[in-house]
Amino acid sequence: MSVSPEAHLSAITETVEARSYNEPEFLQAVHEVLETLTPVLSEHPEFVEANVLERLVEPERQIIFRVPWLDDQNHVRVNRGFRVQFNSALGPYKGGLRFHPSVNLSVIKFLGFEQIFKNALTRQRIGGGKGGSDFDPRGKSDAEVMRFCQSFMSELFRHIDEHTDVPAGDIGVGGREIGFLFGQYRRLTGRHESGVLTGKGKGWGGAEVRTEATGYGAVFFAQEMLARTGEGIEGREAIVSGSGNVAIYAIEKVEQLGGKAITASDSSGYVVDEQGIDVELLKQIKEVERGRISEYADRRPSARFVSGGSVWDVPGELAFPCATQNELDEAGARALLGGGVRAVAEGANMPTTPEAVALLQQAGVLFGPGKAANAGGVATSALEMTQNAARDRWDFDQSELRLHRIMRDVHDATYAASERYGRPGDYVLGANSAGFVTVAQAMIDQGVV
Ligand code: GLU
Repeated sequence: MSVSPEAHLSAITETVEARSYNEPEFLQAVHEVLETLTPVLSEHPEFVEANVLERLVEPERQIIFRVPWLDDQNHVRVNRGFRVQFNSALGPYKGGLRFHPSVNLSVIKFLGFEQIFKNALTRQRIGGGKGGSDFDPRGKSDAEVMRFCQSFMSELFRHIDEHTDVPAGDIGVGGREIGFLFGQYRRLTGRHESGVLTGKGKGWGGAEVRTEATGYGAVFFAQEMLARTGEGIEGREAIVSGSGNVAIYAIEKVEQLGGKAITASDSSGYVVDEQGIDVELLKQIKEVERGRISEYADRRPSARFVSGGSVWDVPGELAFPCATQNELDEAGARALLGGGVRAVAEGANMPTTPEAVALLQQAGVLFGPGKAANAGGVATSALEMTQNAARDRWDFDQSELRLHRIMRDVHDATYAASERYGRPGDYVLGANSAGFVTVAQAMIDQGVV
């Protein structure tokens, strides 16, 4: 008996809502995908027949573990660790680790779910996974971070390896943390297995351009969306939120392409610099000193710091939300529209609320969802895995060229899917459907597993 796509999707929605009623971020991510899939299922009744979606929304495996560690006062501290191995139809689970106090199962599941489609779009044969902890690296000493990472890896190591699951960084996990995690993995397994983590130091298996890749990639994606309509980045002002790895390199690339990024933010507020953000100063404050964004304005005469408030109130034609989920809401979208925004590309994962996405799209703004626009990071992680497997090392230019080409292909595949499924230029529909078709086809080919 055949079921209509609409009936099938609402049955799946009900099942997920019943099972995950207490996981709001995960439900948001699932709704956002399911809402766009009706035209795909109409064209592919075999996906309904094989009940691919009910399998896809259920992680293959979820690991939750205790992470005990000693702080500098010798007090025992306990955090919760997670690794959600969501889908491995296309390759080993791949996705970052996030260390932030807001981390819980819902957050990790939403990130892992998005990662499946994003990774599929890169065409690099990587499955989807995500992990992390509610540990807050901010304000901790290097020694505390090291002890935490060692304890975290003392459980995680038994669930990962280069063919099974390959973690990397995300919020709160950068080069320092990857180093400590890798060291403990090597010690526990007795193997120098470079391909087990990505985002490594360049002296021991890390790839050129991995650090820059997510931010650069988001700007390349915006460049492709604009090029389709005969426009460009050059001469345009960009509003960037965040001041971590993604924001810093989005700002750098905007400036390299002749645009001007005039903002950066953190949880305390934002800075506006009408001369354009001095990216070297921002790197010094945020990456080296691990300081607050207000210090940027203290040291730069052309900049001012706004405590609290919304960075989206600053007018500009390009916007790159590069901080965290749901940071750009309806009020933010209205403010951006008032400021003359033309294109938005998500550097972070799910930074724009569904209401804000709808407003921007209705107003004709080019909107690049994170699954496509921020895929450059994980794509370059896959290139790092390739180099590790081949014991090879590519130089910066070659690596950036590969990243650029991948982002162009992600854009083109996403746009083509938006056309094919009836809403040309709707990159949300395009990214969800192109990613889904790839994974769904692989799942069908591989049987009911
Ligand atoms: N955390 C990044 C993301 O959200 C990168 C993951 C990776 O490189 O594995 O895609």
